[in-house]
Amino acid sequence: MQVVNPATEEPIAELERAGVEEADAAVARAKAAFPAWRAVTPSDRARLLRRLATLVEENGEELAQIETRNVGKPISDSRGEVGMVADVFHFYAGAVDKHHGETIPVAGGVNMTFREPLGVVGLIVPWNFPLNISSWKLGPALACGNTVVLKPAELTPLSALRLAELALEAGIPEGVVNVVAGKGSIVGRRLVEHPDVAKIGFTGSTEVGRSVMEGAAATIKRVTLELGGKSANLIFADADLEAAAAAAPYAVFGNAGQDCCARSRILVERSAYDRFLELLVEATRSLKVGDPADESTEMGPLISAQQREKVASFVGGEPLFRGDAPDGRGFWFPCTLVEASNDDRVAREEVFGPVAAVIRFADEDDAIRLANDTPYGLSGSIWTENGARALRVARAIDTGVLSINANSSVRVQTPFGGFKQSGFGRELGMHALEGYSEIKNVFVAT
Ligand code: NAD
Repeated sequence: MQVVNPATEEPIAELERAGVEEADAAVARAKAAFPAWRAVTPSDRARLLRRLATLVEENGEELAQIETRNVGKPISDSRGEVGMVADVFHFYAGAVDKHHGETIPVAGGVNMTFREPLGVVGLIVPWNFPLNISSWKLGPALACGNTVVLKPAELTPLSALRLAELALEAGIPEGVVNVVAGKGSIVGRRLVEHPDVAKIGFTGSTEVGRSVMEGAAATIKRVTLELGGKSANLIFADADLEAAAAAAPYAVFGNAGQDCCARSRILVERSAYDRFLELLVEATRSLKVGDPADESTEMGPLISAQQREKVASFVGGEPLFRGDAPDGRGFWFPCTLVEASNDDRVAREEVFGPVAAVIRFADEDDAIRLANDTPYGLSGSIWTENGARALRVARAIDTGVLSINANSSVRVQTPFGGFKQSGFGRELGMHALEGYSEIKNVFVAT
């Protein structure tokens, strides 16, 4: 299987594509490693995760370069993401012995609960944040005492393969972390169906998530699904319009729009629409698109020719604004703003590229109605200087992750995940540990 740099279309690696046999072998290794791994003392397991975090820091530049070459991310973004990966392992190193059971008052004895690991877990990740999303799953899975088989996306396997080497170097025993690079429909599917896999932690499209959920039914596998989004960026007339407009392009064009949290519906209160649009166009124009290896680049190419074709299909007619992008080789697409109604395809479907729909709303009720008028519910933002309104609207919007006067969704310490067809289960923070452990209740008669 050939791995390509999306900024140049040059091949950067050749790998053997794994199939069912390799997936089965990885599950068998993980199963064999499980009893010893679950028995590692909490402080030793924490120490191993901390060592992995330190190795990620020490090899951070190499990992960032891999990610930039394989995904086309600006190098400054890749460095930030690798920093987060280290923080994730530091966090879950600290969480190992803070995720514990309880005693519950009952008649006739003592009742206690334990948090047991699930066994072998299958982790299936997409191509847009390969290393980051791998760590969000690996951290809590390993902290709880599970062993794992990680399947990176076919387009972007390189950083996960390097991370598995670092896990071994950290002293995490052989068989605990296994990476299998192959096709989703073959290796991914096999993990979903495998009777020895206890859970699937999946991040990807809603369409594939649905098939994962169906496939998991046969073995009553646990699943957590982190799926697509169509998030709203609500700009009220009483907001700091300059700040909101300066931030909005990064919230949708970051990672070339290939972000499940992309605020790809920019909803603007009618009375502030013209002023805001002027500021938004200005801010979008100044976003620097180009060579991902350049330190000052803010947006790189799309992941593939196929993705570019899909993104282009959302732009019909003359957009409100179209930015510049390099010509020639590489899967480039310019930042694009289109005026839309919430019923247009560009406002209903996940574009997963640098195309934002700008939509007017009349008042607070209309804003909430439009924000919720989508099958998705992942993230979103609310820009207003009225604190009561900010909280009122935040409570009324059906999404898992919201920010007020900011556009960031993801923090190591806080729960991340969706409502509605954006999936279920939470990653990051202490909440993620729930998805990688089972509660056991034990009663002792006294
Ligand atoms: P995808 O659903 O095509 O693939 C995701 C992963 O699933 C890949 O590893 C793929 O090989 C595997 N896969 C494909 N078919 C499979 C099958 N039949 N059985 C098991 N596994 C299979 O998604 P993608 O195109 O790689 O990523 C983009 C999508 O991911 C977008 O919809 C985006 O919103 C979503 N995403 C969600 C989050 C989140 O946290 N909610 C984060 C990042 C990306």
